[in-house]
Amino acid sequence: MEKREELYRGKAKSVYVTDDADKLILFFHDDTSAFDGKKIDQLARKGMVNNKFNAFVMEKLQAAGIPTHFEALLSDQESVVKRLDMFPIECVVRNLAAGSICRRLGVEEGIAVNPPTFEFFLKNDALGDPMINEYHIESFGWADAQSVEKMKELTFAVNEILKALFLDGGMLLVDYKLEFGLYKGEVILGDEFTPDGCRIWDQETREKLDKDRFRQGLGDVVESYEVAGRRLGLTFD
Ligand code: ADP
Ligand code: UDP
Repeated sequence: MEKREELYRGKAKSVYVTDDADKLILFFHDDTSAFDGKKIDQLARKGMVNNKFNAFVMEKLQAAGIPTHFEALLSDQESVVKRLDMFPIECVVRNLAAGSICRRLGVEEGIAVNPPTFEFFLKNDALGDPMINEYHIESFGWADAQSVEKMKELTFAVNEILKALFLDGGMLLVDYKLEFGLYKGEVILGDEFTPDGCRIWDQETREKLDKDRFRQGLGDVVESYEVAGRRLGLTFD
């Protein structure tokens, strides 16, 4: 497969077109950002760790029946994926309260969210990714009603698969964000599943093993991502 021009450079990844119109290459950068790009840093090994973490989780999801864009690892920092027509939407499920739900609703970090909640956010950096609902999505044409239902169904299905996977490694899946797109008319899971886009806590100590280590200046950011990966059975070197 031939890597051609950069289609898009995001905050964490670059997207390259290839000689196959249906395939893209995702390049995972070492760059990390939080608070709408107000806090940025370069973290050695992060691109490699996230690329391998994502490949591992996407393969588990695919095997469990979730349609994903993931095709293959190409190199330490690159993966081949199906080219999707992305919905400009983030789907968030929460099992425990953390992050923006605590700020918005005044609930205490760590309390159970039972049953788990589902939230949509609009991907729009200039607006700070505002929370939206299904009416906004349909009225402004960000996705059709059928795709909205499918995104919800798949995001909740991912919760059951990944909660169990993380629990096997002694970890709690606190919350996570997914992005979907259309591939030949089908709603498919795209983007990434890495500690950059979810919260993972040690089951006993509740030590944070995700991007909150960067957001909150706790240190050992990439080292903690690797701990989480190894506990799932991943190797990084
Ligand atoms: P951001 O755009 O938020 O800065 P990234 O740095 O992760 O985020 O950029 C990756 C971009 O690639 C995102 O906009 C994401 O929606 C998009 N993307 C992810 N997977 C695919 C795919 N399979 N097809 C097309 N675009 C994708
Ligand atoms: N998330 C993400 N990208 C975003 C916003 C959130 O990956 O642009 C993830 C985040 O890492 C967490 C979950 O979605 O795992 C819920 O995030 P929250 O709404 O609590 O926002 P935060 O306080 O993390 O900005």
